[in-house]
Amino acid sequence: MSVVRLILGDQLDPGHPWYRKVDPKVTYVLMEVRSETDYVLHHAQKVLAIFAGMRRLADRLRAAGHRVRYFRIGDADNAQDLAGNLRKVLAERKASRFEHQEPDEWRVDRVLAEFRAGCGVASAVVPSGHFLDARDGVARHFGAARGRWLMEPYYRAMRRRTGILMDAAGEPEGGKWNFDHDNRKPWKGTPPPPKPWDGAADLRGLWEEIQAAGVRTFGEPSAARFPWPLDREEALAHLRAFLKRGLPDFGDYEDAMHSSSDRLFHSRLSHALNLKLLNPLEVARAAEAAHRADPGRVPLAATEGFVRQVIGWREYIRGVYWARMPDYAESNALGHELPLPSWFWTGEVRMNCLRHAVGQSLATAYAHHIQRLMVIGSFCLTAGVRPREVDRWFLGVYIDAFEWVELPNVIGMSQHADGGFLGSKPYCGAAAYVNKMSDYCKGCPYDPKDRLGPLACPLNALYWDFWLRHAERFRDNPRIGMAVRQAIGMPEAEKRAVRAKAAALRADIESL
Ligand SMILES: Cc1cc2nc3c(=O)[nH]c(=O)nc-3n(C[C@H](O)[C@H](O)[C@H](O)COP(=O)(O)OP(=O)(O)OC[C@H]3O[C@@H](n4cnc5c(N)ncnc54)[C@H](O)[C@@H]3O)c2cc1C
Repeated sequence: MSVVRLILGDQLDPGHPWYRKVDPKVTYVLMEVRSETDYVLHHAQKVLAIFAGMRRLADRLRAAGHRVRYFRIGDADNAQDLAGNLRKVLAERKASRFEHQEPDEWRVDRVLAEFRAGCGVASAVVPSGHFLDARDGVARHFGAARGRWLMEPYYRAMRRRTGILMDAAGEPEGGKWNFDHDNRKPWKGTPPPPKPWDGAADLRGLWEEIQAAGVRTFGEPSAARFPWPLDREEALAHLRAFLKRGLPDFGDYEDAMHSSSDRLFHSRLSHALNLKLLNPLEVARAAEAAHRADPGRVPLAATEGFVRQVIGWREYIRGVYWARMPDYAESNALGHELPLPSWFWTGEVRMNCLRHAVGQSLATAYAHHIQRLMVIGSFCLTAGVRPREVDRWFLGVYIDAFEWVELPNVIGMSQHADGGFLGSKPYCGAAAYVNKMSDYCKGCPYDPKDRLGPLACPLNALYWDFWLRHAERFRDNPRIGMAVRQAIGMPEAEKRAVRAKAAALRADIESL
């Protein structure tokens, strides 16, 4: 019996149980296809990272004796879509069985379900073994509970289930579940952020192949010294470097931003995690071990903050995705309809914070969480940009952007377009927040302290106008009611001025 097994571009875990036994009757298929490069406009580094990662895994499997069928993007016999290539390999190998790992994206899940139904051979879907929880684990956790699914109780359940950062009595280490309060310092130049620990592969040949095939991308390819890990060994080296040099200060400066460093103390591990070069449990356990080995150097607050992202937010976000798709993608609870400004594709905007955050994203395919949430996302939310356009930009631009994790973060957490199902409040800030947490306002032509003048920071009028526009919806929200009531309490003349200023900014959004 000949078996064909598909490996998707974000399923690059060489430790998957499939590979334990070498079986000449099994053929592994990997493919670089236009259906995957073209469903959204991708950053050049994202396409390079996935193709280079697949090539590394294919080489490794071949070296271990496995049979591999690999479609390169420029191959003449490449049908350029999953189903076309799979049909070809099933016929070539006279296969009687087709298998694939559970995909993480709704779109790919549909394509493969349809393929299985019509492929004419027996088929099976096996677990990828990557996540701690099942697709419906979050839904099962909340059961019949109506209304919001808050992350915190789910996170606590995950801590209990994994035993990570739990003491012998089954209580959270340090007596608290959450040290977020300690993790809100701005960064003023010290301690120095660690030097980048990125890879330096030469991917110029691959980049030429991608271009020759006519794949459209945007952003800097950085193909001569490619800064992302491409296989498990490189990903592990990246993890070790973060634990040693980034994690000790991760907590203190988790929310800080600075023009001199695009990552500060963040891990940049999302890419390796999402491609399954690393497992979330091993990453969380490694952080816990680093803390236990030297709690004076790696504080509990930093470790807990990091672990919460990896076994809390990441798993929770995925559960929301599978519970709410496909309708979730079209959510627009606040009725926002402004088109995304064209400078999102160039970084050419005078507002320093956005020039930095958008420009950095285009140059490096990376921005850390607060840049995504409190600069780019907050601007789109308060300006009233159409959530689907914000989603398409985020899905294309970041190296780690796969719909299962990108969409709930954009639609739910950042744009509040799901009406607050995921986030308990809209995340947005005026210039004071950006000024406190970064140095972006220095040298900006706009004044962060002014709300209405010709050079007032646009974030201010947009922020207050947002609360005025949505006052009814948010006035009773205990987490932000104060800001709304402050907006409602403004003298009528000031409200009119804020509204007029925000309307003028929206009309002139292309030239901010
Ligand atoms: C609008 C918006 C869009 C986002 N899009 C993506 C995306 O496409 N892909 C993606 O992986 N993350 C996304 N995130 C979550 C988060 O911003 C990134 O995971 C993080 O910035 C990646 O950088 P890092 O590896 O240095 O993270 P660190 O700050 O070092 O965090 C460690 C790890 O925790 C996980 N993590 C942290 N926050 C989240 C979160 N909110 N949801 C899921 N996992 C999280 C990531 O795997 C990350 O690598 C988005 C957040 C926002 C607000």
